Amino acid sequence: MQSTIETLFWLFVPIPRQSRFESVRLKFANIGFRYECPLCQARLGSLHPLGENFPVLVEKNVVGGRQRNARCPCCKSSDRERLIYRFLLYQTDLFSRPTKLLHVAPEKRLTKLIAKFSHLDYLTADLDSSPSRVMEQMDITDIHYPDASFDAILCNHVLEHVPEDRVAMSELYRVLRPGGWAILQVPISLTLDTTFEDPSISSPEERERAYGQHNHVRLYGRDYIQRLQNAGFIVNEFIWSKYPQYFGGSKNKYGLNPDEIIFFAVKQS
Ligand SMILES: [Zn+2]
Repeated sequence: MQSTIETLFWLFVPIPRQSRFESVRLKFANIGFRYECPLCQARLGSLHPLGENFPVLVEKNVVGGRQRNARCPCCKSSDRERLIYRFLLYQTDLFSRPTKLLHVAPEKRLTKLIAKFSHLDYLTADLDSSPSRVMEQMDITDIHYPDASFDAILCNHVLEHVPEDRVAMSELYRVLRPGGWAILQVPISLTLDTTFEDPSISSPEERERAYGQHNHVRLYGRDYIQRLQNAGFIVNEFIWSKYPQYFGGSKNKYGLNPDEIIFFAVKQS
């Protein structure tokens, strides 16, 4: 709730400058020494809650789904966004080499950052084609681009929403150029060997109980990697905690999820 003084203050700040003022205000309000956000550079005392609270997410130890303190209170980035940004920075040449990049269902903070690099030929796309969010409408089970159109693809927390995920994986593989790479994160259970999906589970309530979110159509298990391999990808599982020097040190100052593995999928050249 804003005080009267705050309300009056905002009335006199020109609209183009309001987001800048708000960013500075949030950084002061949340200042601390425990965490540092690599996306907005805020120094933070704590992170805010993120994720869902359905029992299946705890029972099946679902990485990237269950509730945890992981959101930057300033830029609202998630632990996943911060991890991917650091990975892109230190494990790829995205920020130094001209790249045709497809970003499906783009994360807001990552998009803002990537869009600043003029050497990138950057396309954001989603099934929901709202022009304020993405450049283009795209169904990833039927991508209207020729083979080998992109050098790199980001498509995170999308496949668990797609009924025909094997078709989507094949399409992503098809439009990637040989030698290209994709980051394909999904919520994944560390205790399930085999992905659980049942087309008869169709109501939002049933899906919450079975998969941990109202619009998910499956809960991936360890065989997720095999599905990507079946589509043609060579899958590298990148465990960030083995490289603390690039990912926030032994104290995990970027507030990353210790269990999150980057699925770095490559198309053989
Ligand atoms: Zn931040």
